[in-house]
Amino acid sequence: MKAIVIHTAKDLRIEELETEKPGPGEVEIRLAAGGICGSDLHYYNHGGFGTVRLKEPMILGHEVSGHVAALGEGVSDLAIGDLVAVSPSRPCGACDYCLKGLPNHCFHMRFYGSAMPFPHIQGAFRERLVAKASQCVKAEGLSAGEAAMAEPLSVTLHATRRAGEMLGERVLVTGCGPIGTLSILAARRAGAAKIVAADLSERALGFARAVGADRTVNLSEDRDGLVPFSENKGTFDVLYECSGAQPALVAGIQALRPRGVIVQLGLGGDMALPMMAITAKELDLRGSFRFHEEFATAVKLMQGGLIDVKPLITHTLPLGEALKAFEIASDKGQSMKTQIAFA
Ligand SMILES: [Zn+2]
Ligand SMILES: [Zn+2]
Repeated sequence: MKAIVIHTAKDLRIEELETEKPGPGEVEIRLAAGGICGSDLHYYNHGGFGTVRLKEPMILGHEVSGHVAALGEGVSDLAIGDLVAVSPSRPCGACDYCLKGLPNHCFHMRFYGSAMPFPHIQGAFRERLVAKASQCVKAEGLSAGEAAMAEPLSVTLHATRRAGEMLGERVLVTGCGPIGTLSILAARRAGAAKIVAADLSERALGFARAVGADRTVNLSEDRDGLVPFSENKGTFDVLYECSGAQPALVAGIQALRPRGVIVQLGLGGDMALPMMAITAKELDLRGSFRFHEEFATAVKLMQGGLIDVKPLITHTLPLGEALKAFEIASDKGQSMKTQIAFA
């Protein structure tokens, strides 16, 4: 089978690897679709992010779906041919955090395609993937591409949980890449009454409108575009900060009303904070990282037609054109979500 392996920055190879056999409780999956995520792009373009660096070749990818091709011993709830979304979240189930019900903070997390631990956790961009049956969520009724969107959608569902009350709330989303636009869908589904989206790119804002933003603010045309929302101590109840850019966070904080909630999703490295405003307005600053049980919810919401991610899938390229797919995905002027078709 072929797999997409990153060696160092810009050295991406399609390599031939041995197929594995599913053990007890596992299934073999014939991969169908794999979405390229920001973290894959960091490994591809820069060989890592922050202090996380590639130290050995690593199979990329964690946003995948496919068809069940073989069943390991004892697997009874899946059948050969089923389309499944495969969760990349693989907590140990036994550490303190797992036992506390916080599996996304597992000490021994084996999240696909991560160079955080060494040896690195190999990813899921491979023609055949052996996974635990418990990672697989049946996705009948969805396209393989939609099923592969369950992962980034779960990230935003988890963020929405972290945000707390959403019914009738006024929401600001800064940064309208895949996570920002999916946050718009998640916030709306959770009951947000008004959603304003801000970005530097008019094209990204077009996607924000396509998935339901009520208003968009282009901060490259108007640096002070969020200032009107800062009047009378602010407008928004919740900020989804998805850009990882400090100016967006600062402008967003000014536009939050007292007791508002900041959910930080963007991973842009450390930044200086307007702590006076956070203190004086009694704002809550909450991080949000990955997800766990939200994965099955993401599939369910898409299957029920309650969230439509289709407008965000802009490119699908065959495995043989993986390199081109990574180039397109790196170009925000072209791509929203680029996926690789494995079959
Ligand atoms: Zn991702
Ligand atoms: Zn654990």
